[in-house]
Formats: sequence, C-alpha cells, structure tokens
Amino acid sequence: MNPFSKLGLSPQVIEVLEKLGFEQPTPIQEQAIPMLLGNNPTDFIGLAQTGTGKTAAFGLPLVELIDTDNRNIQALIMAPTRELGQQTAKQLVSFASNDRKLNVECVYGGANISAQIKAMKGPVQILVATPGRLLDLMKRKAVRLDDVRYVVLDEADEMLNMGFKEDIDEILEHTPEQRVTWLFSATMPKEIRRIVKKYMEAPLEVHINAEQKTNENISHAYVVTKASNKIPALRRFLDVQPDMRGILFCRTRRETQQIADDLGDMGYSVEALHGELSQGQRDAVMKRFKTRSMQMLIATDVAARGIDVNDLTHVLHHTLPDQLESYTHRSGRTGRAGKTGISLVFINSREGRKLSELEKKIGVTFERVEVPNIDEIQDMRMERWAQQLIKTPIDERSGGIMEIVKEKFEALSKEDLMLRLISSQLEQLIGSGGHGGDLNEHPGASSRGERKAAKPNRFFINVGSMDGLDRNDILYFLSDISGVNRKYFTDLSLQKNCTFFDVDMGHVPGFETRFDGIEVDGRAIRVNKDDDDTRSEKPRGAYSKGRGGSNGGGGYSKGGSSHGDGRSSGPSQRRNSDSGASNRPRGAKDGASSRGKKKSY
Ligand code: AMP
Repeated sequence: MNPFSKLGLSPQVIEVLEKLGFEQPTPIQEQAIPMLLGNNPTDFIGLAQTGTGKTAAFGLPLVELIDTDNRNIQALIMAPTRELGQQTAKQLVSFASNDRKLNVECVYGGANISAQIKAMKGPVQILVATPGRLLDLMKRKAVRLDDVRYVVLDEADEMLNMGFKEDIDEILEHTPEQRVTWLFSATMPKEIRRIVKKYMEAPLEVHINAEQKTNENISHAYVVTKASNKIPALRRFLDVQPDMRGILFCRTRRETQQIADDLGDMGYSVEALHGELSQGQRDAVMKRFKTRSMQMLIATDVAARGIDVNDLTHVLHHTLPDQLESYTHRSGRTGRAGKTGISLVFINSREGRKLSELEKKIGVTFERVEVPNIDEIQDMRMERWAQQLIKTPIDERSGGIMEIVKEKFEALSKEDLMLRLISSQLEQLIGSGGHGGDLNEHPGASSRGERKAAKPNRFFINVGSMDGLDRNDILYFLSDISGVNRKYFTDLSLQKNCTFFDVDMGHVPGFETRFDGIEVDGRAIRVNKDDDDTRSEKPRGAYSKGRGGSNGGGGYSKGGSSHGDGRSSGPSQRRNSDSGASNRPRGAKDGASSRGKKKSY
C-alpha cells in the first residue's frame, strides 16, 4: 500500500505523487495531511521551514477539498515573495494535474496588473498571492473572496518581517468568518501569536522540531578568519573547488553588491541578488544561476527567500544571520533530494559564542576547517587566469591601439612581457595584501576592527518613488518635519520603496525621533540610521499608491504611537551584540588537534 494512502489521500492524487517520485511522506506531511483532510475543517499551525515538504502538507489536502464545480476562489495562499508564491503555485499545479477543472493562479507585485486582473476573470479555485498585490486587486474589485474556505499563511514570520502585517490583517478581515486558517511559520514570534489569537480557533499544531528539521546530508563547518580576510579566504575555497556551486549569504545589500562586484572583477562567475534589483533583473540573475551559466549567487536573506535551486554543493555564510533561525533556512538550500552539501560559515574570532549558541539551537555540530593554503591554489588560480586571458574575445577596436602598443613594447621580449603581465596580476594570483600567507585566525590573534563602521549620518526613510514622490518632495518633507534646513540634506538616493540620505553631522543627534508618530495616509513613517540596509528590501502593500505627487507638508499627520511596530521591525536592525564575547575563538579548546586537520570543503 502506498504510504500516502494511509494519510487519506485519494487514488487520483496518489497517482500524481507516484509520477512526481514522492515515495514517503515527510514528517510534516505525515502529521498534517490527516488533520487537514478531516471531516471537521480546523484551524492549523505548522511550525516548519522550507525544505520540510510543507507545501505538499497543505497543498495535497487543498487539492482534495476544493469543489471544482464552483469556479470561485476557495483557497487563498499568501506568500511573502513572488518567488515563493510561484514555486508554491507550481507545486499545486502539479498536484492537481489529474483534475482538469482545478485552476491555480498566482499573483504578485512587480508584474503587470492588467494581465492578473484578466486571469482573475477565469475560473480560479486556488489563488496564491503576495499580500500587497492581493490587496491592490481587492481594491480594484478584481478578486472576490466570498467563497474562500481555506486561508493559508505560508512563511508567516517572513511576511511579518517584510512589513506585511497590516496587509494581512486587512485581507483576513475580508475573508468569510467560517473559513479556516492554516498558518505555516519557521518561528513563532509574538506577532504571529497575535494573529493566531485574533483569527484562529483552537488550532491543531504540528511542530517539526530541530532534530527532524536537521538535514543529515548537510555538513556544517566554519573557518575563523579576520573579517577583512573573508573574501580572500572565500576565493581560496572557490579556487580549490572549481566545481563548487552555491549561494553566499550576506547581511546587507551594499555588502552583497560589493562582494559580487569584487569577485566578478577577479574573474569569478558570481552575481548579486538583492532587493535593489528590479524584478526583471532578479529574474535574469536567477535564470543564469539555474542554467548554470553562473557559479555562485551572492545574496541577502530576504532576496534569496523562496528561490528553488537544486544541486547546490555549498551554502556559504559571509556573516551569520542576525536571527539564528535563518541559518537553517540558508543551509537548507544545499543537501537537497538526497544529495550531500556543505554549509560553511566565515566567522571572526569574536563570533565563536554566537556559533556555539547556534549549535545548541539547531542541534548540529560545526567542524572547524582551515582556509586552503596558498600553495594548494596558486596553480589553479594561474590556470583560471590564463584560461580567461586566452578566452578573451578580441575587440575589433583593439587594432587601432595595437600599432601604438607595439611600438611601446618593442624593446621587450615575449618572456619579459609575460613576466610583467604576471607581476601586474600578482595581487590576484597570490592573494590579498600582496601576500599569500595563512588566512586562518588563530586563538589570541588580534580581531579588532572587523566590521566597517556604518556611516553615522546616513539615514533611511520608508517612503520612495512608488509613493508618487520625487527627490524634492522628500527633501521638503524631511525638512518640514525635522525642522532642519534642506541644505543640510545631501546624497539623497530615491529608491522604489525607501530613500537614503545624509544629514549634516551637526543635526544628527535625535534626528530620527522627530518623525515619531508621523503618519502619511495612515501609514507610520519610519526614519532610521542606515546601519544595516537590508530593511529597505521590505516591500509594502499597495496602500500608499493613491497618494499624489507633492505633499509639501499637507498629507501627513502626527498621530499616537503608531510607529511602534515599525521601529522594531525585525532582525535587520539589530547589530551584532556579541562584542563582549570571549576573544578565544570557538574551537580554541581543541585548537592543536583541529588546526593541523586538512579537510576538503
Ligand atoms: P517544501 O518544503 O514544500 O518547499 O518542499 C521542498 C521540496 O521537497 C520540493 O521540491 C518538493 O517537491 C519536495 N518534496 C516534498 N515532499 C516530498 C516527498 N514526500 N517526497 C519527495 N519530495 C518531496
């Protein structure tokens, strides 16, 4: 008997699962499917992460429960990102492939809304949506939720992290009271408990705990190196393993872009993925990554949400995530579908405590590995560089310069020329700072000055071009509210959903507090120091779109304390808090024995 039949799934669905190669239910499927298929519709909480098979855990029951004679939306699945939404919809379409009358649609921001409005006119029984776009469609009366019986909040913690709290509330208010809610989340912060309390009744709960979550196929490892040596160290790993294919996670968009640019300049096949890229650019990057024309993606946590790529050999962590839970999310990108993978963390000697905390939290042991020795990689680097040079296409414009260059180098023999060429590349070929030394940081080594200090006068405000504002509007707004003359604002960088700017140092103290309680069209305005810019990736709902171009001080109001949630909006604003940690790196206790060990990572 097929193990899925025991869970109550129909032969029709089992047939699909057989085609998909699903042989055994995962723990969350085993527990959730019978509950969700039960005769009495029930609210449900699944504490589980991506990679546990949670999509099938709710998707298979939905496919069974939908009434295909009814053309209207009966199941609404909300997802934090377009990528996750699309991936979920794709799985649902495959689960429903035996039922021609069951239609799944996916709507998300950043895409043409007219096409989505049109798609909503056909029969759609399961709708997957990102909250902002869904609200937009609701306001345009393009979707009707009257027949919704099942609401799924997928990656609920992530949706809240991305600022969708109000949108979710509003959407839920517009769904029928008798609907049931199934909530999936990797973590259960207070805000999620609030949603549970407000919208759910006696939910059944399934918790896929750390042990079950831990993927045995992933080896967890770390290297200890100075922050300034993290990239040179990463290069060595890339050099010794040309077959490495993976994702390097970074904390901020700026860091992500910088690292991708630097490595790209050195000839590595890498690209950045972060929230500052347009959806089109992101799609193009993902396409290149999936088709393997690129070796490594350099990504922020937020941007990498929901991307579905198999066969990654490595997940690398340039910095540990602020929220340690995200580590499992990150590392789960490797070691998929029975393959083995390596999750490698770059830490400096002060971050040992954080790593030990992580070990306890997720129940895995990290093994210390050494940064490959320069001798091991020089030949490979040389090879890479030579290949790159040989493969460089000859630009037809070079011809004109050639004559001049010939004359210049006339006196040099080919060998002399090659020697000079090599010398000019020496930095690249032998490593950072002109030396090819040991990049491992050992106990007792100095570890000061790891992080570049954030610019103390750079700020961020959560309004941008998508609010219909231009640079001048924002300048006037900032000046009006803060009372600081416009001439003291410089370097204004207007983005889609936020704006960065510098404030003259003399006006910095207490600057951001002047925006406390300011609202624009009922939305709390946040001004924060730009100490970690991942926050600006947080998209918002479509609410503020209707606002006119210039507000000149008119459209905003000073309300109560409505900025409360915005101020504490998540991990991205927290700074490393372990500066007081021991100077002994983690693993120092077994220093001598672990040090000599050579292992290929
Ligand atoms: P999810 O956690 O829903 O993102 O699923 C992760 C991946 O595992 C997806 O590619 C699914 O197609 C796959 N998957 C889910 N359940 C099973 C199963 N029981 N057997 C094999 N693959 C599965």
